[in-house]
Amino acid sequence: MYTELLGLVDEGSTSYNVCAILRNRALSYRSLKNYDAALEDLARELEIAQRKGDQLRVMECQKITKETHEWKRNAEIEAGGGPKAEKIREMEEAGHRLWRTEAEAEAAFETLFSDLQDGDPDVRAAAGRLLADNPNAIRKLISVYQDCLGSDPRKSVLAGRVLGRKMDAGSQQMIHAQISAIRFGIQVAFTPCVCGHCGQLNVGIPVPEGGLYTPFYGQQDDQNCAYALPVLCDFCGKEFFIAWDSDPR
Ligand SMILES: [Zn+2]
Repeated sequence: MYTELLGLVDEGSTSYNVCAILRNRALSYRSLKNYDAALEDLARELEIAQRKGDQLRVMECQKITKETHEWKRNAEIEAGGGPKAEKIREMEEAGHRLWRTEAEAEAAFETLFSDLQDGDPDVRAAAGRLLADNPNAIRKLISVYQDCLGSDPRKSVLAGRVLGRKMDAGSQQMIHAQISAIRFGIQVAFTPCVCGHCGQLNVGIPVPEGGLYTPFYGQQDDQNCAYALPVLCDFCGKEFFIAWDSDPR
């Protein structure tokens, strides 16, 4: 029906209607597991929204596109079978346990949290997604972030990044501490930074608010800088450091 509707409106039109039809058809395709067709419609919607300067629609569309890529990736892993498909299935089950009793949720949280450091990028991404989708897990991540900030920055940043990626929604922007305080009740800023190993842009890295205004860069070690935070790269899986020339704290 959306295809029929699309035929009734001007193809070159940039009206709200075209965007709405494309979005709805994309979500329909996605439900039918036709991910490529969904991504095609989302790309068309994004292009129109960008042309119109509709920032809100651009952000929504980027968020749904990112989710759809994840869904597609998961479907591919599942179809591929083998130990990885089995592992992801176990993780999905742990994701369900996050909603159950406190003891079950705690154990599931510990499992998924350690999967954030897995050698496989698909496993890391799935762990982050499952934790970010559950409000109890979000509360636990907030306390891990705060509790470990001074004692175990590696663990703290790992927890904080799930929060950062949840907020960022693919926009790759800096997020100020005031905004995260409204969202999570904690004062933490987030920034994108290029990996010191592979050069890919990692987003949603938790930093002190001052870190947004002090020059920083991604490097391979924590040497020759005033302050550095360890970050596990989303892409190459190596640890790099976001480093500041003067201490931003
Ligand atoms: Zn990297």
